[in-house]
Amino acid sequence: MPDLPETMRAMVMDAPNTPLRLAELPVPRPGPGEVLVKVAACGVCRTDLHVVDGELTEPNLPLVPGHEIVGHVAATGDGVTGVDVGKLVGIPWLGWTCGECRYCRKGQENLCERALFTGYTRDGGYAEYTVADARYCFPLTGAPDPAEAAPLLCAGLIGYRSLRMARPSIEGKGDILGIYGFGAAAHIVAQVAKAEGWRLFAFVKPGDEAAIDFAKSLGAEWAGGSDETPPELLDAAIIYAPAGPLVPAALKATAPGGRVVCAGIYMSEIPAFSYDILWRERSIHSVANLTRADGEEFLALAPQVPVTTTVERMKLEEANEALARLRDGRLTGAAVLTMA
Ligand SMILES: [Zn+2]
Ligand SMILES: [Zn+2]
Repeated sequence: MPDLPETMRAMVMDAPNTPLRLAELPVPRPGPGEVLVKVAACGVCRTDLHVVDGELTEPNLPLVPGHEIVGHVAATGDGVTGVDVGKLVGIPWLGWTCGECRYCRKGQENLCERALFTGYTRDGGYAEYTVADARYCFPLTGAPDPAEAAPLLCAGLIGYRSLRMARPSIEGKGDILGIYGFGAAAHIVAQVAKAEGWRLFAFVKPGDEAAIDFAKSLGAEWAGGSDETPPELLDAAIIYAPAGPLVPAALKATAPGGRVVCAGIYMSEIPAFSYDILWRERSIHSVANLTRADGEEFLALAPQVPVTTTVERMKLEEANEALARLRDGRLTGAAVLTMA
């Protein structure tokens, strides 16, 4: 094991609905098959907010949150192959799967019954070091800026998976994609969607002029409040905001045959709605987690688009402030904690 410090700084969740606590923790040591990563940057994802706010109810407390991790491998455990010390890697939400359950056997590891999740059921990246299963890390090539790459690890990956779900088979260019909630995931997926030939409509919190401007700067040809009727019906919609009432709103805005994709891990209750807004083969689809194949595909695609990210850099000890700003919608793009 190379020379490593004994302790590190980390932001720790002790209980739901309490601020994270800055703590001095022992630097973890990688077990068999694991890597120790010196974290350079960790994005602040809406899922972190659902964990900290107690909407996701099974965190492994005390917990170090964070699952958009970019850093350099500092040490490797026994049996690790193909990942060397010094290499830049990304660590996503999916931290481990069993490989044996009915979902894993069908290539649906995102649905694994025993999956472990970074920054939720195992410690994550709001820290100077973290440990990850080497098989679930992605190598990052081309020397990206760690803070700018961090949002790709979840907002990007989940955004990409939700875009694939939005158009499972139709090949036509010029289809209209509606995006509800124009935050970190949307600002990445908008770039991919534009590159694939979609026309883009953006729906934001009514009155949020900054979000309208941001969406237009990323290629939305129409942007308005989520309570507004768009000028044309959508061919597909993706909902990133965790608000259940957006589901019937999106169905009403979507043409027959179109799909409404709910991309978040949590959503408030969906109100009852009349069957006629679902009829004529509209569908509602949810997206859960990611597979490693999603990650490999998206991380290969992103430099070709090329995807650029808008980030607000904050210090590790500002994690509570970053979460508060995300909760209140006071961010443009993605907040990223940087450790340097
Ligand atoms: Zn499994
Ligand atoms: Zn996330």
